[in-house]
Amino acid sequence: MPQEELGYVELEWTCPNCGTRNPGTRKNCASCGAAMPKDAKFELPAQQELVKDEVKIQAAQAGPDVICPYCGTRNAATASSCKQCGGDLKGAQARFKGGVLGAFDETKQPDVKCPNCGTMNPASALKCSNCGASLKRPEPKAQPAPQTIAPPTRASPLLIGGIIGVVLLCIVGAYFLFFRTSDTVGTVTDLQWQRSIAIMAQVPVRDAAWQDQVPAGANVLSCEFKPRRFSNVEEPNSRKVCGTPYIVDTGTGVGKAIQDCQYQVSEQYCSFTRLQWTVIDTIVTRGSDLNPGWPSLALKSGEKEGNRAQDYRVIFDAGGQQYTYSTSNPDEYARFQRGTRWNLKINGLGDIVEATPAN
Ligand SMILES: [Zn+2]
Ligand SMILES: [Zn+2]
Ligand SMILES: [Zn+2]
Repeated sequence: MPQEELGYVELEWTCPNCGTRNPGTRKNCASCGAAMPKDAKFELPAQQELVKDEVKIQAAQAGPDVICPYCGTRNAATASSCKQCGGDLKGAQARFKGGVLGAFDETKQPDVKCPNCGTMNPASALKCSNCGASLKRPEPKAQPAPQTIAPPTRASPLLIGGIIGVVLLCIVGAYFLFFRTSDTVGTVTDLQWQRSIAIMAQVPVRDAAWQDQVPAGANVLSCEFKPRRFSNVEEPNSRKVCGTPYIVDTGTGVGKAIQDCQYQVSEQYCSFTRLQWTVIDTIVTRGSDLNPGWPSLALKSGEKEGNRAQDYRVIFDAGGQQYTYSTSNPDEYARFQRGTRWNLKINGLGDIVEATPAN
């Protein structure tokens, strides 16, 4: 992801020897003179300000400071001998760099009260302007508590018992409705058949897609730019989108403020119509005999035949009670002459599930 440089911010470090806060570019403690130990860390200053001093910026750009192997003093990356003891810095260990120290935020921070004399000092001050006492680091602003996701609630044993009960009831109900049958004898009193053919035609259907995905032959109605993807380089119809700026340790006592940016590229999104085979009509023939026939089909230009469907019903009378037998099989339907007697198996819904000739 491309990074943008916003500038440099002087960091600070706290002397582990005497507790004094020191500007990041100071290599020795301003109070006790001890060299900054290599394991002491740079921290964000209480008040962030972009550095205007070109010398400090160039030092930050030169690379991380190196630590004198003889006396432990920090030296600029460009130094060849230690400014403290004169030792040779060839092959000296460099300070750690690249760590993210926190958000870049130039907002004016509230003044800090001197614990010694009560004088108010700007947040950027390391020492009291009145008595010279070392000022404590203001507490960092409270971070909003991370949102926690509630753990999934356990299903109670009562609920599980209820679900099992309902499932059992369904099984028992299904048995009584579909599988438990009663027997009776019925006479065929009526016959009904119905056959239908769907007629299809190509009808315009509305749809939408990215311009490069609109199907060939579609009729484009309108297009508009919409964000589609991210790019590392600026492109036509793109908009720069940047993340929260943050400060990275350069190992020099001056942090680099950067932000990660990308280009959100918009492309044409189009609404269009395309032709799609659709059922536009269904022609039906009906009868009450044993000679079903298909409706005669007269297709117009641009039309084609769709699905065919057939439905047959046989109505029985069993001692004044009516039962209906349904099938889509014409051969089965052909067995039922009016007035013939049949043994019927009836399920819990009153449907005939089986019919055999009665003698
Ligand atoms: Zn000190
Ligand atoms: Zn040295
Ligand atoms: Zn003071």
